[in-house]
Amino acid sequence: MKILLVEDDPTLGEAVMLALRQAGFSVDWARDGVQAELALDGYAYDAMLLDLGLPRREGLAILRQARGRGAILPVIILTARDTVEDRVRGLDAGADDYVLKPFALDELLARLRALLRRSQGRADPQIRVGRLSFDSVRRQASVGDTPLALSAREIEVLEILLAHAGRVTAKEAIADRLTGWDDGVGENAVEVYIHRLRRKLHDSGVAIRTLRGLGYLLEAAP
Ligand code: CA
Repeated sequence: MKILLVEDDPTLGEAVMLALRQAGFSVDWARDGVQAELALDGYAYDAMLLDLGLPRREGLAILRQARGRGAILPVIILTARDTVEDRVRGLDAGADDYVLKPFALDELLARLRALLRRSQGRADPQIRVGRLSFDSVRRQASVGDTPLALSAREIEVLEILLAHAGRVTAKEAIADRLTGWDDGVGENAVEVYIHRLRRKLHDSGVAIRTLRGLGYLLEAAP
């Protein structure tokens, strides 16, 4: 899952970015409003964490513009502005949740996971397909009662496929979601991760099908 973090405070931004990465998210960190808008224009994100007081462009203006263009990604506002009026304005501008600074990183992560679940139409943190289950909080995949040993990248790819289970995910979209600004994951690397996942999922009742020219589809094996 790829998150856009928009925060101009270097200390807080660094802390949130590290916490997100440790929790298994890919993160792009925009440090001002214009950078945030460029990021939203150029990349696909699963969610945005948005500070309000930003250099060059205010957070609420960014949010209104993104919603005006039809962006549906979940947005959590991070701010120290704590009047009822401020919160109402933020939610009315299209935010899904509101976290007051200073906040506990664990709570921010929990709220983010909850929003991501709902944006995928799920309420249960456990995803099940075939005999495969995936705990999206602990980020652990299991077949029956046996935990699978997967690398961080394999888990990311599996999570993306599971979020779209039963539907086709383009290889390009997977590569894009694995890649932050700082590191490059090519489409060839995606093929390698898919190959390894297939091997490790051979006994799970789950198949990852390749649809030539379209992408991959994860589904319960027939
Ligand atoms: Ca700020």
